[in-house]
Amino acid sequence: MKKLTKVSKKKMNYYITVIGAASLVSLLVIFLLVWLVNYLGQGEQDAVDTMSYNYSDIEVKRPAIQEKLLTKNVNSRPGTALNQVKGIVVHYTANPGTDAEANRNYFESRKDCADESSNKVSSHFIIGLDGTIIQCIPENEIAYASNKRNADTISIECCHPGKSGKFTKATYQALIHLSAYLCSKYEIATDNVIRHYDVTGKICPKYFVKNPDTWTTFQSDIFKFLKKSVKKET
Ligand SMILES: [Zn+2]
Repeated sequence: MKKLTKVSKKKMNYYITVIGAASLVSLLVIFLLVWLVNYLGQGEQDAVDTMSYNYSDIEVKRPAIQEKLLTKNVNSRPGTALNQVKGIVVHYTANPGTDAEANRNYFESRKDCADESSNKVSSHFIIGLDGTIIQCIPENEIAYASNKRNADTISIECCHPGKSGKFTKATYQALIHLSAYLCSKYEIATDNVIRHYDVTGKICPKYFVKNPDTWTTFQSDIFKFLKKSVKKET
C-alpha cells in the first residue's frame, strides 16, 4: 500500500506539473491572442483616423496658377457645365520634354480643326517641368480628358522629362499642392484622386501605373499636405 501511495503521489505530482505547464502555456497563448487582436484593431482604427477628413478644419492656400483659358470650341473647350466635382484625375502628357505652355497651345490649336469626336482633348490644369501650373478650363466647365469621368472630375495633366513618365520634383510638389487644394475645396477624399488608368485602363500617368507603390505614396503625400494645412486656432 505504501508503495502504491508513493507511486500515486509521484503520478499526482507529474500530472500537477503537466497541468500547470499546460495552463501556463494556454494563458500565454490567450494573452498573445488578446494582444494581437487589440494591436490589429488599433491598426484599423489608425487607418480610419488617417482617412477621415474634417475639411472645415483644413485650409489649403491656392497654389500660384497662370490662367490661360482656351477659346471655347468643340474639340477642347465645349463650355459644358461641370455641375459636381467628385474626384480628380491625374494624367501625363505622353510627350517627353514638352512644357505646360506647349501642351496648352496644342489644346488651343484644336479649335481650328473640324469637329472630330475621336480627337477631343484638353485638361483643366497642366503642370510644367518646373512646377508652373497653367489653367486651361474653368473649374465649372468640363474638360475632355477622362472619358466617362469628364462629367464629374477635374483633370490635371503633368509634363515629364523622359520616356519613363516620371515627374520632376517640382512637378510632383506642385501636383501635391494642387491636388490637396482641390480636395479641400471640393471636399474630396484622397482616394478619389485617381489615375486616368483607373477610368479606362489606359497606361496614364505611365510612371504611376508601372510603379503602383509610388501612386500609394503620392496619395499619402496629399494627405500629409492636408494634415499640415489644419487651421491654427485663433
Ligand atoms: Zn490621361
